[in-house]
Amino acid sequence: MISRICLEEAIKYARQRTAFGKTLTGFQVTRHKIAEMATRVEASSEFTYRVAAMVNAGEYKVAEVSMAKNFASQVANRVTFDATQIFGGYGFVRGHLVERLYRDNRIYSIGGGTHEIMNEVISKMIL
Ligand SMILES: Cc1cc2nc3c(=O)[nH]c(=O)nc-3n(C[C@H](O)[C@H](O)[C@H](O)COP(=O)(O)OP(=O)(O)OC[C@H]3O[C@@H](n4cnc5c(N)ncnc54)[C@H](O)[C@@H]3O)c2cc1C
Repeated sequence: MISRICLEEAIKYARQRTAFGKTLTGFQVTRHKIAEMATRVEASSEFTYRVAAMVNAGEYKVAEVSMAKNFASQVANRVTFDATQIFGGYGFVRGHLVERLYRDNRIYSIGGGTHEIMNEVISKMIL
């Protein structure tokens, strides 16, 4: 969710912010950054929902749950970073949603099992 909100905020901002006589979406580098953000968000959502459906159906999917958590938190690291970049200076200024989400996002690789411990769980299940 944090990734999707950052993507939506970045799209809104890139459409309205002008620099050097163009909106940010007028620059290919921004369009491509947003395309990659959107791809990551979709892949992460699909994987998470797929694993959730399996767990909901009563399957024991500890490795897949850990993979989904790690993948989603890594996607969130990247997408919050890219959204902050698109916001430029505002991405660093308190009071802007993306700046808050960038900071808050750090907990997802730490709480509920750190990234490293999730990898331990995955490796134990698959090796
Ligand atoms: C805001 C917040 C909310 C939280 N909410 C909850 C909650 O509701 N319920 C709850 O139970 N806990 C909660 N926690 C605790 C959270 O789950 C722990 O912070 C997290 O599990 C890491 O434990 P630690 O802080 O003791 O770090 P440590 O265990 O000291 O880890 C420090 C670093 O060393 C790495 N590391 C440690 N052991 C290994 C290992 N064996 N192999 C490889 N790397 C390792 C870790 O991955 C991490 O990078 C919360 C933490 C925060 C900050």
